[in-house]
Amino acid sequence: MLTLVTSDRFAGHLTPPGHPERFERAEVMQVVAAEAHAAGWSVVEPRTATDEELRRIHTERYLREVMATAGRPVAFDPDTVTSRESVELARLAAGAACHGVDLVLDGRARTAVAFVRPPGHHAEADRAMGFCLFNNVAVAAAHARARGAERVAIIDFDVHHGNGTQHSFEADPSVLFVSMHQFPCYPGTGAAGECGRGAGEGYTVNLPMEAGCGDADYAVVFDRAVLPVVRQYRPDLLLLSAGFDAHAADPLAGMQVSTEGFGSLARRLAAVAGEICGGRIVAVTEGGYNLSALAGSLRALTAGLAEPGLGAAEAVPGSRERGERALAEAVPVISRYWRL
Ligand SMILES: [Zn+2]
Repeated sequence: MLTLVTSDRFAGHLTPPGHPERFERAEVMQVVAAEAHAAGWSVVEPRTATDEELRRIHTERYLREVMATAGRPVAFDPDTVTSRESVELARLAAGAACHGVDLVLDGRARTAVAFVRPPGHHAEADRAMGFCLFNNVAVAAAHARARGAERVAIIDFDVHHGNGTQHSFEADPSVLFVSMHQFPCYPGTGAAGECGRGAGEGYTVNLPMEAGCGDADYAVVFDRAVLPVVRQYRPDLLLLSAGFDAHAADPLAGMQVSTEGFGSLARRLAAVAGEICGGRIVAVTEGGYNLSALAGSLRALTAGLAEPGLGAAEAVPGSRERGERALAEAVPVISRYWRL
């Protein structure tokens, strides 16, 4: 039982010509949602995030600063620009992620997928960054905790490191953050040695990967590090920062994942969620800037989450050399905290 949470309003967040995070991405999301609806899946309009929900992640001062720009275009930095409706839509994007959490925690859906923009995982507590205004997945994780979930795991396979999400929870053992990302690359954080601090030490898990990684590299890192850590953590709910800019066709980064590769990761994730947390997954979109790759990857993600496969038993063809090198670097750090 999978429910999509999305709105055609997300196309109203406008960016300048040539900007990769463009309104056409929302049109692609609507095409895929319409197909899903026609196939009998549930598609719902999101609610908006409340002030209280946003305040769990963002500072009062930052929220005031952002809200004061509502109705007019602003450049928060050279990459992160808004239009008249952007602030309202960023709030709707964070609300869609919370809405997904509500559906899953209320038992109205087993899995929820929020197709949103602007994306969120670069947004810091006090700063817009990397196309992101509010940290949608972090707001959703804090919402799940506020609703009584004891442990929440966030997996982030966007090609960029989710710096904002990591910083939101790096001292908090009740939210596990596991990221696979191209490294070195924007935003520069996410080295293997970044593993949390204080009571949160060990609950931040970074898997930096060299450019050129394909489906089998991602699968081996998933099977030998990401999924074993998540299994041992035993979350009540699994959140996914679903960026598709590791796709071979993506213009922003240098990975080689195929559309089917994302399907395979989704089936693996759904199989593990079925074992450990009643299948409860809430996926929230992040990057993915080639429109046809985005369409295919959204289809592969939703189909994969709806129909768990054999998990790690499902073979993925291709070289896993780069994945093995990523593991060789990160496993010594991760093994201090988890059995791998
Ligand atoms: Zn990205």
